[in-house]
Amino acid sequence: MTSATVLSNLGAIDAAHHLHPFSDMKKLNAAGTRVIERAEGVHIFDSTGKKYLDAFAGLWCVNVGYGRREIAEAVHRQMSELPYYNSFFGTTTPPTILLAQKIASHAGGKLNRVFFTNSGSEASDTWFRMARVYWKALGKLEKTQVIARRNAYHGSTVAGASLGGMKWMHEQGNLPIEGIHHIGQPYWYAEGGDLSPAEFGLKVARELEQKIDELGEDRVAAFVAEPIQGAGGVIIPPETYWPEVARICRERDILLVSDEVICGFGRLGSWFGYQHYGVEPDLAPIAKGLSSGYLPIGGVMVSDRVADVMVEELGDFYHGFTYSGHPVCAAAALENLRIIEEEGLVERIRDDIGPYFAAAWKSLESHEVVGEAESVGLMGGLQLAADKWARRRYAKPDDIGTLVRNHCVENGLIMRATGDRMLASPAFTISRSEVDEVVDKLRKALDHLRDTVRE
Ligand SMILES: *Cc1c(COP(=O)(O)O)cnc(C)c1O
Repeated sequence: MTSATVLSNLGAIDAAHHLHPFSDMKKLNAAGTRVIERAEGVHIFDSTGKKYLDAFAGLWCVNVGYGRREIAEAVHRQMSELPYYNSFFGTTTPPTILLAQKIASHAGGKLNRVFFTNSGSEASDTWFRMARVYWKALGKLEKTQVIARRNAYHGSTVAGASLGGMKWMHEQGNLPIEGIHHIGQPYWYAEGGDLSPAEFGLKVARELEQKIDELGEDRVAAFVAEPIQGAGGVIIPPETYWPEVARICRERDILLVSDEVICGFGRLGSWFGYQHYGVEPDLAPIAKGLSSGYLPIGGVMVSDRVADVMVEELGDFYHGFTYSGHPVCAAAALENLRIIEEEGLVERIRDDIGPYFAAAWKSLESHEVVGEAESVGLMGGLQLAADKWARRRYAKPDDIGTLVRNHCVENGLIMRATGDRMLASPAFTISRSEVDEVVDKLRKALDHLRDTVRE
């Protein structure tokens, strides 16, 4: 085949040879996959030449936007100089060291060290092992149980999927593994009943206290949560939630783990999500925005409390990946963070485009099929409602979200739906007129929902 025929046959080749993540392959092969060929700024282009505004930054990750030559050049330089070396046997590489320092410089307070992984899922497995190792090194052999939340997402490895609270993921894999327990989520719209958001926030936070009592304080190692649930539907917790969670972890001597894979590196208008909510975790998994997705890299930020025990008491931590701290990925991440710093992108979200996005997104709340449209920084969640005045949801949430999403995609806007929630997480560089375009196209999709579905 000539390269032109190969390109025109990519769909068929994909169907024949490629299994996609989180996909029903029979349906996908029937519908045909969309092949994305190039991108620039906030736009992606598919193999038919069609242009889309990507309001999802790839998969919550391309925070500095597409087409950054600086990152490509930093990667090229590093690859030419040293394509690979490991950090295992008393060695490491310059970008790996400098990246750890750079991350710590933004972490604030006591999160001064980083353990590198290749992904957020590996970061979940890594902190999970660290938390147990920490308590064991302190002689608290029973402190092994971990509490997480329903409808959380922490990755797709065995520990990641177990920590996550996606029932359908658990059902496919005999999960969760032993020692992981789930409590409720701060999803007021769906589960808040007659309580005010503030009351509900306290109530679900206190489920943590109840679960600790049930399991026994001496048996619980850690509690993990995303500052704002991402894949679960951009569930923004009531303001009362996080301070109460932090209080409980402190009083009960439980490690607090903040999953910063989405919220980390600026998305909420602060360097980390825990800073937005004014809490300080003991461990914080990171990935996605660390490199803006240009190359795969993740890690766990480790507080002095845990690191001191690991350094002073533990001896060897028998854990690591061939590519932990990969120099080329670290060089990409360093360049990405340099761009975020020099262009003031975190401040831009806090003071400028974040408030602009918030107002535009909120304007959708007056639409007949919208229950709520909330955002923090550049992370927006929109709740579809069959009866907004009665706070009643559609009977088939997945179909409804898919209908709206497909309408958006047809009209050149990449959005994601989780059940009956529409999610936005654009690049930090999105312009005001591009924000307007996102909201206009989404509004048209909402009109389409209103005009086609009657419940
Ligand atoms: C994406 C995600 C992960 C998993 O990261 P991968 O790099 O896909 O393994 C973990 N936690 C959160 C909150 C995520 O959004």
